[in-house]
Amino acid sequence: MATKQIKEEVPYCAKCDQEMQQILLPKYEYEEEQVLHNVEAYRCNSCGKIFFTESQAKQMKLRSRELKEYTFGFERKVTISGKSLVIGIPHELAEHLHIEQGQTVKVYPMANEGLIIKKC
Ligand SMILES: [Zn+2]
Repeated sequence: MATKQIKEEVPYCAKCDQEMQQILLPKYEYEEEQVLHNVEAYRCNSCGKIFFTESQAKQMKLRSRELKEYTFGFERKVTISGKSLVIGIPHELAEHLHIEQGQTVKVYPMANEGLIIKKC
């Protein structure tokens, strides 16, 4: 078996019988509600059909899993400090998002579900 990584074969559109072009999808939901950005894919220029190679699909799967972990993976207890309720940001998450002490964030309520915190 060759150890060198061989460039994947460019997929063909079966319908139009022509090579597909590599594109970058700005948004793609590989799994429901897991929106990935800048997803590599192939597209047929004639009919617009989108195709993912095996490694592209694998990549999406990994990214979806990672996203899911960051979206749902941390359960925190609300504590209290003075009159404010406090939620600790897990170390891994802070590192991933490059949030440090002193960082200003904006808190947005989200219907009755909870809140969204965004870096300013
Ligand atoms: Zn086509």
